[in-house]
Amino acid sequence: MSNKFDLLVIGGGSGGLAHAQRAAEYGINAAVVECGPLGGTCVNVGCVPKKVMWYASHYSHLLHHAADYGYDLSVAGQDWSALKAHRDAYVLRLNDIYNTNLDKRGVTYIEGVARFIDANTVAVGDKEFQARHIVVATGGQPLTPNIPGAELGITSDGFFELEEQPRRVLIAGSGYIAVELAGIFSGLGSETQIVVRKDGVLRDFDTMLARELMDAMQKGGIALDTGVIPASVRRTDDGLVLTAEDGREFGPVDVLLWAIGRAPNTAMLDLDKAGIETDNRGFVPTDDLQATNVENIHALGDVTGRAALTPVAIAAGRRLADRLYGGMEGRHLEYRLIPTVVFSHPTIGTVGMTEDQAREEYGDDVKVYTSGFTPMFYALGKDKQRSVMKLITAGDDERVIGCHVFGDGADEMMQGFAVAMRMGATKKDFDDTVAIHPTNAEEVVTMR
Ligand code: FAD
Ligand code: NDP
Repeated sequence: MSNKFDLLVIGGGSGGLAHAQRAAEYGINAAVVECGPLGGTCVNVGCVPKKVMWYASHYSHLLHHAADYGYDLSVAGQDWSALKAHRDAYVLRLNDIYNTNLDKRGVTYIEGVARFIDANTVAVGDKEFQARHIVVATGGQPLTPNIPGAELGITSDGFFELEEQPRRVLIAGSGYIAVELAGIFSGLGSETQIVVRKDGVLRDFDTMLARELMDAMQKGGIALDTGVIPASVRRTDDGLVLTAEDGREFGPVDVLLWAIGRAPNTAMLDLDKAGIETDNRGFVPTDDLQATNVENIHALGDVTGRAALTPVAIAAGRRLADRLYGGMEGRHLEYRLIPTVVFSHPTIGTVGMTEDQAREEYGDDVKVYTSGFTPMFYALGKDKQRSVMKLITAGDDERVIGCHVFGDGADEMMQGFAVAMRMGATKKDFDDTVAIHPTNAEEVVTMR
């Protein structure tokens, strides 16, 4: 193997692979260094296995309503271990596909932990590699709190290792991972409880979404306690007990899961040897063009601390390659109007500003439209889950600057609306679009 490349990418996750492969398509001699399985967080311990578990848990929802549709079903149970085995096999297939894709494009795959020697040299074990361009795409890892007994808990990484379904689960945290994993555990039948340190979940989202989700979670049997600042964890004969700073105790449970955010993977990189600056949390700051403070070194994806989502890492990686090697001057990812979905039960889809952000920026120039309804799916039965939607507009022409949906299908709904919003759609454009009936999505274009 040569030790000189045009491009060396550190991290074979969503962003790193996307960048290296696009660069190779432009004829660049590229290598990827990866210390874990190819595909990174998303494929191995993130989006992919999570969505499989979401589907599994969604089944229980459909089964719950099957009788409304005339089915006489008896379900003997759900086999968590079998599900995990199928899921793991799927992930292994994906790892292989990523490997083959690198091969096909002639990208060199170097296995091991990379660390900088200088701004053009990276060491992996006892070998050194040199490159004109280096891209840091090392992603992140789950945080745990610095309190006694924290190590008794697991994180989202540990969730994917669980061989058996825990009977009782306590999740500490309030973001994407906390609510997604709570929904999965609960849907599959675990007694599930969430503790959040402030007044609710998903505090970065539009308040309507968080309120409706908390309501749905509680109605669905997930216990939620607010104002809980974890102080310590201990093991008792009956399971783990979390004590809060105010003395409240939660548990005993079989699994305690921390979902309190993620830290960048920068500690092992010896970034200082290349002169790369980090912020006070270890993230690598980049400008609009993914440039770090060192001329030939770029960074992208979760390690930059911006919009930690797979399609963001991929888009940043591909556009950077287009610009550096494909002659597309100025091409870069705009970090605005990024659509995102929370795979809760039901799902949340959102793009653009929250109502609070819009009012802060546009003051009285903001007009808000909302809709709340019970989807037809629930019409035949007693248990009903309502959906809510909100459109936020700004200015005389009522440009749509925020679109928020909570309810069945929100995950599949948002992509098209994000396109419309990027194109500058106004409320009139939404109104003038003929609805598709009968769907939940039609409510987005019929709000008054
Ligand atoms: P990563 O995919 O984390 O890749 C970084 C790679 O670098 C890793 O493979 C790591 O092993 C490697 N590495 C680190 N240090 C070194 C080193 N020194 N040398 C060599 N290699 C190194 N996003 C979505 O859009 N939708 C979702 O549904 C979604 N669900 C998620 C669920 C969970 C539980 C989690 C944790 C995340 C989820 N995400 C989701 C976020 C998504 O996974 C990340 O945003 C995405 O993986 C980031 O890609 P990346 O390339 O920046 O980093
Ligand atoms: P998030 O940043 O979404 O949420 C973590 C939250 O935990 C914080 O916002 C904070 O909320 C709370 N928290 C922080 N520290 C503590 C503490 N010491 N004790 C108790 N609570 C604490 O992180 P996640 O780990 O859920 O997910 C990481 C990222 O991965 C997400 O931001 C997202 O970008 C990505 N992701 C995307 C998914 C998707 O696209 N569907 C799914 C999963 C992850 P507060 O201030 O309210 O207490």
